[in-house]
Amino acid sequence: MRIGIVGLGLIGGSLAIDLRRQGHHLLGVSRRLETCQQAVRQGIVDQAEPEMGLMADAEVVFLCTPLGALAAAVAQLLPQLSPAAILTDVGSVKAPVVDQMAAVGWSNFVGGHPMAGKAESGLEAAEAGLFVDRAYVLTPVETTPPAAVETVAALAQSLHSQIYYCDPAAHDRAVAWISHLPVMLSASLIAACLAEPDASVIELAQSLASSGFRDTSRVGGGNPELGVMMARYNQSALLESLLAYREQLDQMIQSVQQQNWLELEQKLIQTQQGRSKFTICK
Ligand code: NAP
Repeated sequence: MRIGIVGLGLIGGSLAIDLRRQGHHLLGVSRRLETCQQAVRQGIVDQAEPEMGLMADAEVVFLCTPLGALAAAVAQLLPQLSPAAILTDVGSVKAPVVDQMAAVGWSNFVGGHPMAGKAESGLEAAEAGLFVDRAYVLTPVETTPPAAVETVAALAQSLHSQIYYCDPAAHDRAVAWISHLPVMLSASLIAACLAEPDASVIELAQSLASSGFRDTSRVGGGNPELGVMMARYNQSALLESLLAYREQLDQMIQSVQQQNWLELEQKLIQTQQGRSKFTICK
C-alpha cells in the first residue's frame, strides 16, 4: 500500500518506521526540508518533500501535524489527493478534527488517536514499536464509509495496538480525565512547589525528590505546545474535569483543616480501590 504521512515528527515518524518495516511504500510530507531529507536518509520513509504534490497517489494518508497546523495542511492536501484516498489523523482531540473534515466535505475520513507518546518531540524522537500494546482509538461517525474504517483499523492493528471505537465527543471527555487533566494537575504541582517562598526549603525539596515526585510531575514537565493544544481544542471537557477536580481538592483541604482523619482515610480507601479499575493500573 502507498501510505502518506503529513508531519514527520514523533507520531508521524514512529508510524512511518513501523509501516515501512511491514513492506508499505511510505511517502512523507513535512514542513522543513531538513526533516524530509533526514527521514529519507534514515530509511524512515521512501520519499519525502515539503510539497503536498507527493501525496497524489497515496491510498491512505495519516495527518500527523500539531493540531494547530492541521486545517492549513488539509487545505493544501485535498486538491492533490486522489478521490479514493482515505484520510485519517492522530490528533489527541477528536471532535474539532472530525467536524473540520465534515466541513471540508472529505467523507473518506476516519478520526484516530494512537494513545502513545513521550516527552520528546520531532523526528529524532520517533521510534519503532511505539504503539505496541497501546490503545488506538477510532472515531467513525454515521457517514464514515465502513471500508475506510476497516482499512484504518487493519493498519492500526498491524502496529499491535488495541483498537477502541467511540464517538468523537465521548473520546474527548474520556481523554480529558485521563490525559489532559493529569497534565494540568501535574503542571500545577510543579508550579506550586516552585512557588515555595523559602529558597533553602525548595532547594532541599529538589534534592530529596524521588519516585513519588517523578511519577506525579512527569506529564506536567512535558511538551508545553502539546499541553496548550489540549486545553485549546478540548476546552469544555477539560474545564469540566478541572472544576470537578477542584471540588475534590476543596474537600481534601477541608478534611485536613478540620483534622477529619476518618473522612480523609475513607477517601483514600476509595481511591486505592478505584485506581485498579483503570486498565493501565491493573
Ligand atoms: P511533533 O513531534 O512536534 O511532530 C509534528 C511534526 O509536524 C513536526 O515535527 C513538524 O516537522 C511537522 N509539521 C509542523 N507543521 C507542519 C505543517 N504545517 N505541515 C507539515 N508538517 C508540519 O508532534 P507529535 O507529538 O508527533 O504530535 C503530532 C500529533 O500527534 C498531534 O496532533 C498530537 O495531538 C498527536 N499525538 C501526540 C502524542 C504525543 O504524546 N506526543 C500522542 C498521541 C497523539 P518539521 O517542522 O520538522 O518538518
